[in-house]
Amino acid sequence: MVTMVLYSAGRTTSYPEDAPKKGLRYHCLGGGDEVGNVGIVFENERQNRLLLDYGLAPTHPPRYPSEAPQVKDAVITHSHVDHLGMAPWLCSNHRTLLHGTALTAQISEMMWYDCHKVSSIEGYPLAWDKRDIDTALDAWRIHDFNESWNQDDWKLTLRKAGHIPGAAMLDLETPQRRVLISGDFDTRDSPLTTGAKPQKTDTLFVEGTYGGREHPNLDEEIQRFVEHVQRVVDRGGTVLIPAFANGRTQDVVMRLHKYLPHLNVHVDGMGKRIAKMQMNHPETLRDPAALRAAWSWCKRVSSKSDRKRALEADVIVSTSGMLQGGPSIWYLNRLRHDPKNAILFTGYQAKATGGRQLQSEGTLKIFGKDTEIPLEWDTYSFSTHAGHKEIVDFAAACEAEEVIIYHTDPVHARPPLAAALEKNGHIVHNPVNGISEYLGEEFSRSH
Ligand SMILES: [Zn+2]
Ligand SMILES: [Zn+2]
Repeated sequence: MVTMVLYSAGRTTSYPEDAPKKGLRYHCLGGGDEVGNVGIVFENERQNRLLLDYGLAPTHPPRYPSEAPQVKDAVITHSHVDHLGMAPWLCSNHRTLLHGTALTAQISEMMWYDCHKVSSIEGYPLAWDKRDIDTALDAWRIHDFNESWNQDDWKLTLRKAGHIPGAAMLDLETPQRRVLISGDFDTRDSPLTTGAKPQKTDTLFVEGTYGGREHPNLDEEIQRFVEHVQRVVDRGGTVLIPAFANGRTQDVVMRLHKYLPHLNVHVDGMGKRIAKMQMNHPETLRDPAALRAAWSWCKRVSSKSDRKRALEADVIVSTSGMLQGGPSIWYLNRLRHDPKNAILFTGYQAKATGGRQLQSEGTLKIFGKDTEIPLEWDTYSFSTHAGHKEIVDFAAACEAEEVIIYHTDPVHARPPLAAALEKNGHIVHNPVNGISEYLGEEFSRSH
């Protein structure tokens, strides 16, 4: 049932052995026609080679990109596991250097330890072990936003991507073409970050997570959310908000602080440490003072007695965002007994997760046993990925001759997005994992 990539060197890679003959070639080891699991190799005829991201998809079971070829340099766009989860393997096997922002580098350590922990709890193999984390940490080369560096005859620059603090787009200038790779991005502001700004480019790689789907009006969504929280508190209940540690937890706390400052809000999980790191890098934040204020306002759960006290709070914000372990489960095991309580999800619940099971069957696995959770729940869309319209507008504003849609569901999301982009006059590529393609008109015409 499970196709596991074994990473025996030289055996499992989809990367071609021949060097590109002319121009700039790209090859998705993963993340071409799927969401997450990203690894894209760029190479030219001088055999100048760069890897963009090397993640895994934390699905059940996880998916891994195909084995990376020998590569000296990798750019890591941001600190989500679907973009950096396999970097320790890369660094220990190929001595690859990791280029990214200071905050991404700082958060990476926690993400890797957490990834390692989750894989051992869930019994999934991981191609790297804890010692490789140290190798990867030594491999970081830090770059500020908008400060270029060179790799052979390429010029590389990180640009703000929105999405989460520290997240970058890669602006890659080659003698033949200028290429902009969005990473995970959003052009809309969030409480934590300023939206990504378009820039002129020849080729745009854009994440198509939300192709064909429009986000709800954010102000209306926030109002609906705020009213719901207040309603539960008014009837004497506690709201549990499961939230990812890296980005979502802080966004939610900042919104609660802004709109419901009279409430008693407790925060638990890895998001506490990540907030501290974000505050240490104010250059990545839209409004550093607002994060600091929200953070000193909320109560951070740091002990067993704190956790018991949090059960009396108005709101608990806690990992994991999809009810896959984390303190959320501990809270729900107690909150489930009082129907006045409620669960407010802040994002999509992937299949085979606790959150999805709760939404579809009303139960959750607690200590390995399916347990009834007879609580009211609802889902709010606080995504920080660009929606369909934002993607199309961004590509137009970048004046991109060609657009490569990656990090996308090839069946539901990509076709409507490709159609909208083609209608606007862009040449669209739909990459498939394991198949190399060339950038530039003379090559794409022949495909
Ligand atoms: Zn992603
Ligand atoms: Zn991300």
